[in-house]
Amino acid sequence: MRNVVIIGSGCAGSTAAIYSARANLQPLVVSGHEAGGQLSLTTLVENFPGFPAGINGPDLVESMKLQAQNFGAEYVHGAVVDADFSQRPFRLNIEGEWIETRTVIVASGASARWLGLASEHELIGHGVSSCATCDGFFYREKNIMVIGGGDSAMEEANFLSRFGREVTVVHRREEFRASKIMLDRARHNPKIKWLPNTVVEDVFDVSQKLVTGVRLRNVKTGEVWEQDVDGFFVAIGHIPNTKVFKGQIETDPDGYIVSKGGARTSIPGIFHAGDVQDRTYRQAITASGAGCMAAIEVERYLEAEGH
Ligand code: NAP
Repeated sequence: MRNVVIIGSGCAGSTAAIYSARANLQPLVVSGHEAGGQLSLTTLVENFPGFPAGINGPDLVESMKLQAQNFGAEYVHGAVVDADFSQRPFRLNIEGEWIETRTVIVASGASARWLGLASEHELIGHGVSSCATCDGFFYREKNIMVIGGGDSAMEEANFLSRFGREVTVVHRREEFRASKIMLDRARHNPKIKWLPNTVVEDVFDVSQKLVTGVRLRNVKTGEVWEQDVDGFFVAIGHIPNTKVFKGQIETDPDGYIVSKGGARTSIPGIFHAGDVQDRTYRQAITASGAGCMAAIEVERYLEAEGH
């Protein structure tokens, strides 16, 4: 029987592990299919406090993991494939093996939605990004492309226009899903150019391990052309990793966990941390803060239950 199982090994999960391990709760961390979370897909992180010269995303999450392990946290590979929160203790199925736990911290994150091109995947962290706040700074006076037609795409395009020489928004339709205010703000930005009715067919150049351009297609006219670009930002939404808890923990229509205050979910004893609940901030530092909150709540919950 575990005191606490932490689902996810990104900033939220590993910070929760550091705190709960130091509280002597011997947490078990289930790494998940994307071990280290979204930071493991980035390169330099310059906005995590405490690193004036920046730190590599994968190094940062690995250091958090080591720190948690130094205090006795245990990490297992694999993912939670099934869960039963209808009874106590809670039951989790990790790659076919059921375990029991008194509490759970769900820190399974939200995965950026990608276009699904092989070249896009190959170039993540080498010019392809899903986070303007994280990576925009690297594209001073460069040509930037933003894919998407929602609020995220508008927000990212506006933000990136502070750095880039030019920002081109590529959207697959004529109409934009973004709210009027966000769209208007972007439309009034002279640095932003528009390519509606356009899809990306390929991202270059995998052989150089660097984004140099794209091949685009106008879906109305069928015209295909290539365009130089240095930074390729995909802003077509995120998918919270809650499928396995569907129907058990309360989520909003998009699948994000609904917070019941602090780190509480709709089920007492199950807590949330990080992007699996947060569609607003989505930063490493906010996820870490949320992991800390969840661990403190677990400690108090177990204490109140007499454990
Ligand atoms: P979203 O509203 O779901 O928009 C996703 C966009 O990506 C849509 O324009 C969609 O095109 C496009 N898209 C999806 N899959 C695609 C694909 N495979 N290929 C090409 N394009 C694709 O997502 P979001 O912009 O991340 O926003 C999520 C939520 O957060 C929204 O409720 C939004 O209002 C909110 N948000 C608010 C703010 C703010 O107020 N400051 C900022 C960011 C986000 P279609 O339109 O054709 O489907």
